[in-house]
Amino acid sequence: MLNKNFDLLKREYIFPIIEKKLEDLLKSVPKSEVVNLGIGDVALPLSPSVAKAIASACYEMTRPETLRGYGPSAGYPFLRQEIAQNEYSKLQIQANEIFISDGINTDITAIQELFAPGLKIAIPDPTYPAYLDSNIIAGRAHDIHLLPCTKETGFVPAVPTEHFDLIFLVSPSNPTGVAMNRIQLKEWIDYARREKAIIFFDAAYAAFINSAEVPHSIFEIPGAHEVAIEFRSFSKSAGFTGIRCSYTVISKHLKVDSGDKKVSLKDLWNKRQNIKYNGLAYPIQRGAEATYSESGKQETKSQVLYYLAQAKKLKAGLIAQGFECYGGEDSPYIWWKTPNNLGSWEFFDLLLEKCHIVAVPGEGFGNCGKGYIRLSAFTTEEKVNQALNNIQALSHLCDLV
Ligand code: PLP
Repeated sequence: MLNKNFDLLKREYIFPIIEKKLEDLLKSVPKSEVVNLGIGDVALPLSPSVAKAIASACYEMTRPETLRGYGPSAGYPFLRQEIAQNEYSKLQIQANEIFISDGINTDITAIQELFAPGLKIAIPDPTYPAYLDSNIIAGRAHDIHLLPCTKETGFVPAVPTEHFDLIFLVSPSNPTGVAMNRIQLKEWIDYARREKAIIFFDAAYAAFINSAEVPHSIFEIPGAHEVAIEFRSFSKSAGFTGIRCSYTVISKHLKVDSGDKKVSLKDLWNKRQNIKYNGLAYPIQRGAEATYSESGKQETKSQVLYYLAQAKKLKAGLIAQGFECYGGEDSPYIWWKTPNNLGSWEFFDLLLEKCHIVAVPGEGFGNCGKGYIRLSAFTTEEKVNQALNNIQALSHLCDLV
């Protein structure tokens, strides 16, 4: 007997469809002429400081006196301390409140295990698909409510009037590229405190934040320690998508009523990790530690700045050509309104066939993504120039549709 909840995953998984369309195009167009702005994956090579640290950790393991087997399920203290010092020194977060993992995806799709069935869950629309799909698989399909993020709401979810127990927020957002400011996040924290709700705050793109009014961590908001869990990753901040390292931060102040007692979510997550997770590879944790060395900081920062420069150029180029687009300021993603009210897929096909540009149709991220396209700036300057040149013909093409 299979888990029938898989049948409830109604939304088409769009990436195989995009792959197929791209494959078809490549039968008649050389690869070098195609600009892939669809992928949210790194385009620059791994930082040398990170690579050296990983390699030397592997060699360390070849010596009998420094061999390593299973590590602690919560992560090695050296990395937890480094993160605490570099990311949270002013935010009252200690090393033992930081849990190392192999990806936000792994943890944010598992965190609901800590909670009882039947709780009311709120998820942004459009959304990073993992929140929604993991809750559906876990049998919570009927408990999910979508929070519209439209032009009218400034592409951020508005605080609801009804009660929710568990809320997924992502800032800066994938797919819209729009970040929530201090005031908006404070409204959510105040709501969670009033409603005794828990916020799962996905900060995968924290390293891309420039705007002074956008917090890098939810723990900058007073009261967040009691109601929010933060998820961060080295994937996009330091090019770790292929080697994997992330962390989940749960303050000791986050306690949930359970019968006649209060339970610490930090302790419960620790217990869950002890049971289910045997820890992240030692060399990878040394690699993540190296992102905080002087050279590591410089190398990874320059990668983030490079992607941000591509986002800025792409967005400015599109706006100069009369298109409407959002995001791209504190994020590598641009949320492009389809011209002439074209559907997302229609516009996707037009971009692919006429401009040889791969994007992602917004409706792949939810109903509120209809009429939008996501562009990713995880690419090179050369490709951005090529894309802008190819798009120049598009305003004319759109008039013909
Ligand atoms: N959260 C968001 C919003 C993302 O966009 C992504 C990756 O694209 C992830 C999480 C996955 O992060 P990780 O590589 O740490 O699993």
